[in-house]
Amino acid sequence: MIVTIDGPAGAGKSTVAKRLAERLGFQFLDTGAMYRAAALAAMQSWVDIRDEEEVGKLIEKIDLKISDSQVILNGQDVTGLLRSPEVSQNASVVAENPRVRAFLVDLQRSIAVQGNFVCEGRDQGTVVFPEAECKVFLTASARVRAERRWRELKRAGEDIDLDVVIAEQKIRDLRDETRKVGRLVKADDAVVIYVDNLSIDDVLDQLEILVSSRNLKN
Ligand code: C5P
Repeated sequence: MIVTIDGPAGAGKSTVAKRLAERLGFQFLDTGAMYRAAALAAMQSWVDIRDEEEVGKLIEKIDLKISDSQVILNGQDVTGLLRSPEVSQNASVVAENPRVRAFLVDLQRSIAVQGNFVCEGRDQGTVVFPEAECKVFLTASARVRAERRWRELKRAGEDIDLDVVIAEQKIRDLRDETRKVGRLVKADDAVVIYVDNLSIDDVLDQLEILVSSRNLKN
């Protein structure tokens, strides 16, 4: 069974998807981490991040392995390098590249055939797994999303103003919502969960009930 969780940056998708997968005994696929790793690959090779041709060529040759807790890029554990503001911005740029998307979409499908998965991203329910049994669109107000991200960066030791995080989030939201391929849009058959006033356990309880109801139907 595949459960997809899509939504804008900072809505808490990764945390929710990971914890939901634990509760269900499913595996978890963080597709944002894959776009982040693609951006890092381009940065490490000093390729112009906006050069579609060069970035496309480079990404089609990378060796990317991802598990619940680790991302291995060309044999190197890059898990700890993926969440910096620079990688975040560059990830949303490489995510506009059709060749990068085609490569990562294929990789995501080949990973998820291997069992039961909770897949988290922007296009999981629309493009990657349109036949998924259970689709969720997780969202929150721009302010709450930016504050979550800001706290996460602070915990990681980044000295950054909330206003800067809000401004960067706006840019990423716009790119996510307007790109030509894999645009962030709710799947017609996705259930929307607005998390502003919900605790993580409330969200997980709702999702667990939803998945069980879908599981019974199939
Ligand atoms: O979710 P996260 O913030 O880690 O995603 C990093 C970037 O990857 C986002 O800015 C988004 O543009 C891109 N992304 C995407 N499609 C996905 C997952 C992430 O375009 N399925």
